[in-house]
Formats: sequence, C-alpha cells, structure tokens
Amino acid sequence: MTHTSLDLRTPLASLPGVDPRKGAALQPMGLMTVADLIKHAPRGYEENRGCITIAEADALLGEQERCGDLVTIDATVTAMRPRRGRTRRVEVEVEDDSGTMTVNWFNQPWVARKLHPDTTVRLHGTLSRYKDSLQMANPRFHEIDLDDPPPSPSESLAPVYPAGDGVTSPFIARLVEQVLDDALPHIEDHFPDDFRRERSLPTLAEAWRLMHRPTCEEEVREARRRLAYDELLMLQLGVMRRRHVRQSTLHAPKLRWDDEIRSRIAARVPFTLTSSQERVIEEIAADLVSETPMNRLLQGDVGSGKTVVAVHAMLMAVACGHQAAIMAPTELLAEQHFETLRELLEGSKVRLALLTSSLPAARRSEAIAGIADGSIDIVVGTHALLTGDVTFRSVAVAVIDEQHRFGVHQRATLRSKAGDEHGVPHALVMTATPIPRTLSLTIFGDLDVSTISGLPPGRTPITTRLVEPDKAAKVYGHLADLVSRGQQGYVVVPLVDDTDSGLKAVTTHTDMLQNGYLRGCRVAGVHGRTKADERERLMRKFRAGELDVLVATTVIEVGVDVQNATMMVIEHADRFGLSQLHQLRGRVGRGELPGVCALIAEASTEDAQKRLEAIVETTDGFVIAERDLEIRGPGELFGARQSGLAPFRIARLPRDFDLLRMARRDAIDWIARDSDLSDAPLLRARLLREFGEGLGLGDVA
Ligand code: ADP
Ligand code: MG
Repeated sequence: MTHTSLDLRTPLASLPGVDPRKGAALQPMGLMTVADLIKHAPRGYEENRGCITIAEADALLGEQERCGDLVTIDATVTAMRPRRGRTRRVEVEVEDDSGTMTVNWFNQPWVARKLHPDTTVRLHGTLSRYKDSLQMANPRFHEIDLDDPPPSPSESLAPVYPAGDGVTSPFIARLVEQVLDDALPHIEDHFPDDFRRERSLPTLAEAWRLMHRPTCEEEVREARRRLAYDELLMLQLGVMRRRHVRQSTLHAPKLRWDDEIRSRIAARVPFTLTSSQERVIEEIAADLVSETPMNRLLQGDVGSGKTVVAVHAMLMAVACGHQAAIMAPTELLAEQHFETLRELLEGSKVRLALLTSSLPAARRSEAIAGIADGSIDIVVGTHALLTGDVTFRSVAVAVIDEQHRFGVHQRATLRSKAGDEHGVPHALVMTATPIPRTLSLTIFGDLDVSTISGLPPGRTPITTRLVEPDKAAKVYGHLADLVSRGQQGYVVVPLVDDTDSGLKAVTTHTDMLQNGYLRGCRVAGVHGRTKADERERLMRKFRAGELDVLVATTVIEVGVDVQNATMMVIEHADRFGLSQLHQLRGRVGRGELPGVCALIAEASTEDAQKRLEAIVETTDGFVIAERDLEIRGPGELFGARQSGLAPFRIARLPRDFDLLRMARRDAIDWIARDSDLSDAPLLRARLLREFGEGLGLGDVA
C-alpha cells in the first residue's frame, strides 16, 4: 500500500486501517505520528515459520515425546489453573478451531495476571507430549486480536513490539509495514557521511529499516549498534557541551597547594593517610589550583575515609582566605561531620558553624551573618544551606556528601551561592554508593572521578550470612551474646508500623525483641516518622553506648559511624536493593572489632535470589554496584527523575559499554574541534531538542 503524501509528521490517526478507537489507544503509548511509530523499536524478534494450528502441531510432534522446533500457534485461553507449590506453575488450556493444548509456565507467576479466559495469544515455543496431551512449556507469548493476520511464512524474523491497551504487537507490525517504505526516504541522517563510514555505521534510515525488517540476527545487531551509538553519543555530546560551557564561562578561586599548606594540614590528621587517599588528594589539589571550577566525584566504599579527603580540600580554601561548605543529607550526618571537624581543628584559628533547619532562630541568624561576612570559615549543613538567605562572602570549595540523595539542581544552587567577584566554588561530590564505571560515564558524565580503593588499615572485613527466617532465634541469640560483651547492634526492618503485609515493622518488632530474644538489653526503635529531636536523642544515646540495639528502618543507611556497633541484622533482606544492603552493612565493622551481618530472608523472586547471593559473596562495593546495575538497570538505580535523563530506548548498559566508550571519545573530540556543532546542524538541532537550552547552543531551529 502506498501513501504518497506520507511523511514523518503524518498523524497515525489519518492512516487507513487506524479507526478512531485504535488512534486513541495508540496515543498513551506515545504513538502519534509516523516518526513515533518508526522509533517504536521491537522488543525482540521471533523466528518466523508461519503459524500452524494445534492439529498441525499434533501431527508435527507425531510419536515423539518432544520436538526442538520452534512453532507459532494462535489460540484462545479456555481455562486457567494457577498451581501452588514449589515451581509456582501456571497451567493454561488453549484451543483453536482444530483442537486443544495445555500450556505451562514455570516460575513465572506474572503470567497469570496477563491471561484470562478468552484472551487470544500468539504462542511461540517448543512442543511436547505428556500423558497423551499436547503441551507447550514456557512459550513466549503476546496477546493478539482474532482479526490480526497470521505472520506470513518467510525467511525473516518477525518483530515483536511493545504492546499497549487495545494495541497488539501484530497490529503495530502491520502499521509499520504499511508506512515503512514511504517513511524511510524522509529520515535524514544527522552524521556527516565520513563520520558515519569511519565507524562502520549504517545510515539512520537503513538502521530503522533493519530494525523493523531484519532478515537475520546480524542485521538486528547492525541496526542496534547504530541506534544505541546515537543515543550514547547524544548524551555524551550534551554532557561535554555542558562541561565546555562551564569551563569556558565560569571561574573559581585559584587556591594554593604547597609544602607549607600540605604540612599544616597533615599536622591536624591523627593517622597516616593511605596511598589511595594521598592520590585522590593530589588529584583534587590539581583541580583547585586552577581557575576552572572543579566538578569532581569522589567515590569510595563505606568507611574508606572520604571525610579526611574533603577536609583537605576545605582547608586549602581556608588557607587561601576563602570559605568552604560541606552539605550532608541528614542532620545527624551534618552533626557528625561537624564533630569530626571540631576535633580535627581544635585549637586552630579555623571557625566552624553548623547550619541545620532545627537550629534555634537566634543561632541560625548568627551563623548566617557569619557566613555572609566571612567570620565563619567552614560551614557544615544540610539542605538548610540551600535556602535563599544563605550567602557566602567567598566560598571556594563546596563539598556534597552522599551524592545520590542530591540532584544536579542542588549542586547548581550551591554553586550559585558564591555570587560575587570570586566566581563559583569548586565542587566535590562524595558518594559511598560506588558508581559503576558505566554509569559514571553517563549520568555523572560531567564529573571527573576520583576513587579511593580499599579501606584504611586495621579493618577486619565484615562477614555476611544468609539465614532462613525459621533460624532467626540463633541470630538474635548471637546479638544478645555480643551485647553481653559490651558491643552494640542494629536491626533493620522494612516497615514503620504493622500492616497485614506480613512484614516486620519497627514498632512491633522492637517490643517483640525487647520482651523476647533481647530481654534485658536496652533496645529502642527509630524510623522516618520518629520526630527529629527524638531521633537525634536516641542516636546520641546509641552513640554514647546508653542503648545496645537500635531497631530501625533504612534511616540508618547513610554514613552513621558508631565504632562499637558490630552486628547488623536485616529482616526481609530480599526486600532491599543490593546497594542498599551494602550500605546498611557498612554501618558495622567500622572499628577494630570484626563486623557481622545477618540477612534474614527467603528469596521471593529470581532477582532477589541474585541480590542475596551477590551480597554474601563479596564485600567489594564496586562489584556490588556493577551487579546491581546488571540486575536492576540504571533507571532503577538512580531513577531517571534524579538523573534528569530520559532512559535509553535502545542502548543497554553495561552491555553497550564499548559503544559508550567510543561515544565518549567521539564527543570529547567533537566538542574540542567544533564546540557549537556547526559542522552538523541537524545533530545540533536534535541535541538541543533533547537537552534544551542548558547547553548554551542558542536558538538553533
Ligand atoms: P566514609 O568514606 O564512609 O565517609 P569516613 O571518612 O567516615 O569514611 O572514615 C571512616 C573511619 O575511618 C573514620 O573513623 C576515620 O577517622 C577513619 N580513617 C579514615 N582514614 C583513615 C586512615 N588512613 N587510617 C586510619 N583511619 C582512618
Ligand atoms: Mg562519609
């Protein structure tokens, strides 16, 4: 079917075959125009031998017990029989005009939610026979309409599209076939030909053609490579362009780093720095002596000693007559940093202030005045630092602790605080959730990265054990034992209050422990809804050793440092993310005493099982972060909202890491050679559409 006036902007609703009902159903899927449809990439492909009927399948199987050929059968569900038991089988009866068949899905309980009697599905799988009945086990399937045409037998792979309410994959496939030939000539490539050829990439039009109409896996790979590269390059160009703007239009105070300052700071540190700490301090110092604002991510596992590194950067600012700020995500952490700094700087001339929202009004205005007139050298604070009335006389270094709690916007706000002839502060972002390299190059791509590897000497690595719920008594027995020897512990549960979810909650579990396993111990519960001052009071008591066991939600996740705490119990551990579990267990084993972490859990899904295995196997935060990324994907890890980026449609990390590296190199070269992308106007326009005005590219069409 040709449709000569068709172009990429043609509304899908105007195509023959799209009635108003279908048109309306396509909209919520983001499918409005021909361009949207072309960009709706298949989620997979099925080898297409054409559809057969159940009777034909029966004949094909013949006398065999099973047969390895993949077949496609369209059939309607007549009965559903979810089975309980270990394999959690979903058994479904289906029929077509020629006969009936039994389909089983093992360990895929979600299937039961997708199917119901009268659903018509296209099943794609292998056949077997069991007690005289024809069977299919774990076929791939998608819902179809009875009037969807059967796939025609051909050599090609049949694309399977993400479907929606009232929109089946075969319907989309038919629509794509209807417009593809007319649409392709309208797809303009945004790369110069040479650039594309040097990288052996197909044109954009060719890539989309192969994506929708491949004849073999190799063609799918070729198409994906081009489209994934595009996404990654766009992102990298955006990041590099932003960095270019920052470096060419902003400046920061130039600090000094010489022997005098070095030894003055060293004299304040009560331990010998590890070589890893020394290395990152040099990396940071090299940035600080330049006028280009630093934008650096300092990553290091929990307990690796990031604070002292930040202190070096802050003291460099102070030594040069400027101010420094450190922002933490919670009041408790801000206080902890404040204490650390106060101890380190005892007897020095450096003046400190703590700025949190719970500060009494009078002390708050005093602190704000001191920050504004420069009588305060270092401010430690929470979000309260970001409020409008806080301005610095001259802040040269801004440290943000536990990065992923803060977004890009907070960084920008903090940067704007300097607001005078001194320019913007150098920014140091610290995170204890090690960011996999793949991600640090994307979401955090405009940050330079410094890494502290390993832990300070004298730490015993933490032991992690997975314990089944019915063995919990042993775990708490061990905790009671440690308490009787003067040590402390944490118990983490998922909920604040009891619901009928069957999960443990802080309130009831605290009572239960106090009156049971931990009778005689001093136990208290804290959670997100505990009033701030009460929470502070309890945490302080715990730190002072006046409480033995803290039962909590994940409020204790980040940064809390109580060296005498040696045991962490995590109830329903399968409910927590991998990085989160790693953060939690990082709360113990921070002193000389070895730490133990007991994960009480019964994995409810395959992902949960993988997470629990990973956490028991390794204590290396980087390995864990990579695994988390593989299991959950970047979207879940950092959230598209927080990262300010749309998720990729085609690219997948870490799978496409090599492409990412290539894109990054290409983007760096490109911006260095042609910073406003005037060599590729179309690319520039598309980039602008993606990232908006933040790139300083002006008003290109
Ligand atoms: P994190 O990286 O998790 O923020 P901290 O900076 O809180 O870690 O450091 C954890 C503990 O290790 C602190 O008590 C700190 O004083 C101590 N520490 C840091 N560096 C060293 C070192 N080089 N030698 C001995 N102890 C250190
Ligand atoms: Mg810390």
